Amino acid sequence: MDIIKGIAVSPGIVVGKALLLGAAETHVPRRTIAPREVDAEVARFGAAVAAAIADLGELRRTTETQLGAETAKIFSFHEGMLQDRTLLDPILRAITGERLNAEAALTDQFERVIAQFRAFKSDVFEQKVDDLVDLERRVLGKLMGEEEDRLARLTEPAVIIGHELTPSQAAAIGHGKALAFVTELGGLTGHVSIVFRALGLPAVVGCSRAAVEVQDGDEVIVDGDAGVMIVRPDETARAEALKRAEASKRLRSSLAENATLEAVTADGTRIQLLGNIEFPDEVETVLRNGGDGVGLYRTEFLFLTSEEPPDEEAQYQAYRKTIELLDGRPCTIRTLDLGADKMTQAMLQEPERNPFLGLRSIRYSLQNQPMFKTQLRAILRASAHGPIKVMFPLVSTLMELRQARLILRDVMEELDEEGMAHDRRPRVGIMIEVPSAALMARTFAAEADFFSIGTNDLVQYTLAVDRGNEKVASLYTAASPAVLQLVKNVIRAGRSAGIEASLCGEIAGDPVFTMLLLGMGLRTLSMVPAQIPVVKRVVRSVDIGLCERLARRVGSFDSERQIHTTLRDELRKLDPANFGGWAAA
Ligand code: PEP
Ligand code: MG
Repeated sequence: MDIIKGIAVSPGIVVGKALLLGAAETHVPRRTIAPREVDAEVARFGAAVAAAIADLGELRRTTETQLGAETAKIFSFHEGMLQDRTLLDPILRAITGERLNAEAALTDQFERVIAQFRAFKSDVFEQKVDDLVDLERRVLGKLMGEEEDRLARLTEPAVIIGHELTPSQAAAIGHGKALAFVTELGGLTGHVSIVFRALGLPAVVGCSRAAVEVQDGDEVIVDGDAGVMIVRPDETARAEALKRAEASKRLRSSLAENATLEAVTADGTRIQLLGNIEFPDEVETVLRNGGDGVGLYRTEFLFLTSEEPPDEEAQYQAYRKTIELLDGRPCTIRTLDLGADKMTQAMLQEPERNPFLGLRSIRYSLQNQPMFKTQLRAILRASAHGPIKVMFPLVSTLMELRQARLILRDVMEELDEEGMAHDRRPRVGIMIEVPSAALMARTFAAEADFFSIGTNDLVQYTLAVDRGNEKVASLYTAASPAVLQLVKNVIRAGRSAGIEASLCGEIAGDPVFTMLLLGMGLRTLSMVPAQIPVVKRVVRSVDIGLCERLARRVGSFDSERQIHTTLRDELRKLDPANFGGWAAA
């Protein structure tokens, strides 16, 4: 039994079988097979080679028609190599004689041959090495299964383990195939972690060597509360995990009883609790959890889950569906927040050196106006079906807000000329998620209808800590005096200008922060839908005076640790039975 520690990013505990993604590049399984498995292993190897040869034949034929016979020769050469007995026989001997699994037997043989070729120190042989590496990958891919095939063949959901997953991969795998997620890279508020939480599945990131220590089919425990993965657990660990999974399910269902209750503090202040969503279907989860509406619709996920960017009609349908499902409740649609760790196929072709400081979010939209206008048209057309607010992400200068507003006005005029119905005075706000915007909040307040504080990015840009990097995860915290001062500044600016300031970063859904946020003056919080019940329970247990006193006390602290410890202690005091788990260090 191995215990691998990581960062807890999505709560819950499960016991399940592992499925490794990206394994062909990162880890080749090695095991001794039983004598009775030998024949099947030889057959499996034969089938993988045959499938690789068939693919090469196909490639040769298409290349011949498209690029000519000379270029296609490379593939006939590869086909020939895969039929060469001097290359294949040692592999078969390792399977039958040493009883090695096919993947390990294959890589051992290729490594030997590559070393021999390299020893010649000649350009001709060096080129052949590239061919061999290519062939090895091709056959390994067949042996270990292409990713989609392996996912498609899953008969029951598995624990998905990978070196790194993208937000779009995680969203595409979804509930049907995943029981839980574990990755070697990643941080608390990286976008892939947000998707894990949105899916409501336990997840641990930053688990170094997870993809090396685990083999396909191994039993693992994923503890998304403690941030731990246990590989091949013994009976005691297994029984303990199942017991805790049951207890956590009971707590969740007791919290779910909150859904129909109002989010009102003990002294009668109504707090608006909204959901963050990536797809229209999640509206149902928001409502089931007792949310008042949607405070952040991350529309870029529409672009991340399809090969081609969705056209105006597809976007319009998605926004309209969201609005209709909300049936008159609030709906804040954020324009595309692409870039950084949310890349489309086209963007992947042109990597940036420093993408989090690069062409992301509103900057990307302003430089790609046809795409931006298409989205604004779709949003405005959908606004004919119910109330919406439009929100621009990552605004860092006033010019960006002005430009975005001008484009929005152009689009409205265009729609008017076409006789298309739309809201003529949509509320237009901005995310405050970079220090420049937080510091200049008073100036922005004169030109924005509302603010939504995005602490996920605000923390990373204030503290210079990458939100998705496990190596600096211990430095990443919103319980930072600097971050809290910025948040306070934004709330004050909003209040003096008479515009609403709400918060939609991940801390909005972390009960440890609820009292502080209310005490600082926030009355609207938008969070991952599954967290609404627990935050509502905190709201209903406190009065605003208590929260304000806590906020004042915390405001005088100068260390992250002191702030975090105090917030946890206060939560625990409130109700040890219910909040003890959340308040644990
Ligand atoms: C944020 O940065 O806090 C935020 C809510 O936006 P996202 O997590 O999508 O970057
Ligand atoms: Mg953000």
